[in-house]
Amino acid sequence: MAETLFKRVAFIGIGLIGSSMCRRMARDGLVDEIVACARSAETRAKVLELGLVNEVYADPSDAAAHADLVVIATPLGSCGSIAKSIANTLKAGAIVTDVGSVKQAVMQMVQSHLPEEVHFVPGHPIAGTEHSGPEAGFADLFEGRWTILTPTADTNEMAVEQMMHLWKKMGAMVELMDPDHHDKVLAITSHLPHLIAYTIVGTATDLEDDLRQEVIKYSASGFRDFTRIAASDPVMWRDIFLNNKEANL
Ligand code: NAP
Repeated sequence: MAETLFKRVAFIGIGLIGSSMCRRMARDGLVDEIVACARSAETRAKVLELGLVNEVYADPSDAAAHADLVVIATPLGSCGSIAKSIANTLKAGAIVTDVGSVKQAVMQMVQSHLPEEVHFVPGHPIAGTEHSGPEAGFADLFEGRWTILTPTADTNEMAVEQMMHLWKKMGAMVELMDPDHHDKVLAITSHLPHLIAYTIVGTATDLEDDLRQEVIKYSASGFRDFTRIAASDPVMWRDIFLNNKEANL
């Protein structure tokens, strides 16, 4: 029989990562009710059409009300304002988590807005594709992949245990890490490779017409691999570079 880990889960942002978590939770009966908040009417309609959630809202605080778990799954730059907007509606004892690719900056942006009786467990699944949006997600995205949680010494231990358990149920291997260490490791393994890919593809795009045609004509697998990485969402990656500036430099 399925083990229900949370009654009501709210996704603030339901793109590739949020909708993959959502699909896995629904498929394996890990939660009773899933609601979401999406910024655009187009995404809200898509989420309903895909049958991903019980309810979708435009206002983050409507989604977060009564939730036992709130997952912030938007580009990093919006995490602080989202935490601020849901702070007053969160119920005591609720867990708030995020999936952001940079940890120190997100923790600073989010923690200060949350009431004391709410537990913030920062997280980062090391899994993804170059595709975005709710239609890009799939239930097995986290299977056999690492998820890193970066709680502090003050984080409620039970909440950390619950998040570790949830991620394992979604197929992930879980590691706890210091946020500063996380940001240094990910700068090398993920952020710099993306920065290099964007730079090379951007340079090729800016070439004079005839030179650009030759680059395309003679591009071998190295350049093609860069184009796949550089097809990732530019807003998401802008926020990652800006928020992990020091480690990347
Ligand atoms: P995504 O597919 O682009 O989805 C982003 C979601 O956030 C959409 O539902 C979007 O809604 C919403 N959103 C965007 N800007 C917003 C704003 N200013 N306020 C409120 N909602 C907003 O992105 P994703 O790939 O799932 O990435 C989400 C987070 O996961 C990022 O922080 C990223 O660092 C992290 N992450 C990504 C990957 C990856 O490979 N993609 C891997 C690990 C972690 P609308 O469509 O309505 O605008």
